[in-house]
Amino acid sequence: MVVLENRVAIVTGGSRGIGESISKELAKYGVKVVINYYSSKEKAELLVEEIKELGSEAICVKADVSKEEDAKLLVDAAMETFGHLDILVNNAGITRDRTFKKLTGEDWRKVIDVNLNSAYNTTSYALPHLLESDAGRVINISSIIGQAGGYGQTNYSAAKAGLLGFTKSLALETAKTSLTVNAICPGFINTDMVAEVPEKVLEQIVNKIPAKRLGKPEEIARGVLFLCRDGEYITGQELNINGGLYM
Ligand code: NAD
Repeated sequence: MVVLENRVAIVTGGSRGIGESISKELAKYGVKVVINYYSSKEKAELLVEEIKELGSEAICVKADVSKEEDAKLLVDAAMETFGHLDILVNNAGITRDRTFKKLTGEDWRKVIDVNLNSAYNTTSYALPHLLESDAGRVINISSIIGQAGGYGQTNYSAAKAGLLGFTKSLALETAKTSLTVNAICPGFINTDMVAEVPEKVLEQIVNKIPAKRLGKPEEIARGVLFLCRDGEYITGQELNINGGLYM
């Protein structure tokens, strides 16, 4: 088991939804958190205060992780503030759901940029620092949609499936080191992202989930905690947290 106290984590899109829960869960165990936000400045600043109340440290950094230069600024901020880096959680993501017939090139590129190219951007700058840690972790938040496909989600599904290939290949390349690289594939989790799904469609989705409910952001966060703390010999894996929807 890895002692998490005083480890440093970057959580992209870490100020709300699943990212917020991950930031808080890690902070509870003494991890210093670099909360990346894109638009929710106030939420990010509030979360920094909450984390300080939990007894840990945090900063928030505005960065559009779909841009390489912003990803560099994010990693630089972590290093300048805390001096080392142990955990990178690539959580930032968006959807632009449309059936393929209606999907524009802009919808395609934007979703690939934010969900997939962002992981290249952050990981390429973070990797040298993560390899210096004795328990480095890259955790990519993929999706059940990357495994099973999703109606109206060719762009999102391709990006999330791409993250799985990225995870396994980087895990292979780093397996001899103390860095592990894994993906978490959430099912349908109760956040703003799912709130965009029309109520009737959501009802049908919940009916199909064997557990008969949406997942909670905290349930994904506990998966991240598990991989960080107990995952020394777990690399290149997909951790499915989906109420049994995809087995
Ligand atoms: P959310 O919309 O609440 O959060 C997404 C986060 O990403 C936000 O903090 C947002 O600001 C950030 N973000 C978006 N674009 C960004 C950019 N260019 N740069 C930096 N940050 C950016 O949604 P969520 O449900 O919390 O999603 C978190 C992750 O989990 C996403 O990758 C999503 O695809 C994945 N996921 C969610 C579900 C679900 O059911 N909610 C299921 C599977 C996977």
